Amino acid sequence: MTEAATPAATPSAPERPAPRDRRVSARIGAIAESATLKVDARAKALKAEGRPVIGFGAGEPDFATPDYVVEAAAAACHDPRNHRYTPAGGLPELRQAIAEKTLRDSGYAVQAAQVVVTNGGKQAIYEAFATMLDPGDEVIVPAPYWTTYPEAIQLAGGTAVPVVADETQDYKVTVDQLEAARTESTKVLLFVSPSNPTGAVYTADEIRAIGRWVEDHGLWVLTDEIYEHLVYDGVDTGSMPVLCPGLADYTVVVNGVAKTYAMTGWRVGWMIAPADLAKAATNLQSHATSNVSNVAQRAALAAVSGDLAAVAEMKGAFDRRRQTIVSMLGEIEGVVCPMPEGAFYAYPSVRGLLGRRYGDRVITSSADLAEYILEQAEVAVVPGEAFGTPGYLRLSYALGDDDLVEGITRLQKLFA
Ligand code: PMP
Repeated sequence: MTEAATPAATPSAPERPAPRDRRVSARIGAIAESATLKVDARAKALKAEGRPVIGFGAGEPDFATPDYVVEAAAAACHDPRNHRYTPAGGLPELRQAIAEKTLRDSGYAVQAAQVVVTNGGKQAIYEAFATMLDPGDEVIVPAPYWTTYPEAIQLAGGTAVPVVADETQDYKVTVDQLEAARTESTKVLLFVSPSNPTGAVYTADEIRAIGRWVEDHGLWVLTDEIYEHLVYDGVDTGSMPVLCPGLADYTVVVNGVAKTYAMTGWRVGWMIAPADLAKAATNLQSHATSNVSNVAQRAALAAVSGDLAAVAEMKGAFDRRRQTIVSMLGEIEGVVCPMPEGAFYAYPSVRGLLGRRYGDRVITSSADLAEYILEQAEVAVVPGEAFGTPGYLRLSYALGDDDLVEGITRLQKLFA
């Protein structure tokens, strides 16, 4: 029998507000609103008021989902099998098709049992970190980073450790920088190529060097390959666990149909993980959300089983817009915009525009600059603060050619 503790022996607990005064948990209260979605919502609200806003904020293709995908979904609605719960980790035929697509597209040979179908790549990222991290674990996150990564890491109890690579190094981190950030607590490297927000693409040699470093130090890697098909200029790149096969048992690949098939709203993504992690993540998903909508999964099945014609067409348009946006931004004094080699984002440094007087005010941050641009030119862009690097703007060029030219022309006039 244990002795009952006397009141005197109880350490004095810090004063805790009453339950009703603790409205939102500290964990969720610490999450910031997604800055990219906020800019997009603001631009759409202004548009709804009738203002001619041009949006460079949203990270989504302006193309329609291919017809054969939409038709597969329509047919799925009429099939009663899709009206019921299905396995939490995804339809078996979709997991198999994703394994086959992965071998076809990146050369990575995986089993269907390693695939977990999620509600978009976003859920895969959150679940992967929740499955890998214990409190105190650190994740090295190259910056500029996509705004969701640090939040997902923190939500999972980990700590994001940013490593900044600016435009002078084409927004790509080096092994030396990673090594300088590594501690006893480092567990995972977050890796994304092509990158959101910079469009940077690592070469096969650079990926091999980073993969070797991950391997040498017994770390894990989460590699986000959602923009795998949007690589320009014939860059020689590849998938980290293919270039470094020894890493396969310590790699989580994140991917999805959103960017490749213009399917952002369908919400289908996936992770590919070692089988034990895939099983653990499926357990988490079985309590959080269960299966992704069967209709959306059937649409994704049609998409990944089909060819890559849709993405080839989009890529041609994005490539053309990429050249236009970079050359037009380059004409603005104070803006430095390296040529992105992948995805559909330009990430110019606007530090040369800061500290100047505009009308009756001096603008000192990229966040203020983005506000000013929206007010004065009715152009929506996302400030670098959202990506861990103040002094920059992100512009998505996945919008129509005419809008793109009109939007950047407005910026040229504003800063002339
Ligand atoms: N990874 C990256 C790098 C992204 O840019 C996005 C979308 N913005 C995603 C993952 C997630 O995409 P989704 O959840 O729409 O599949």
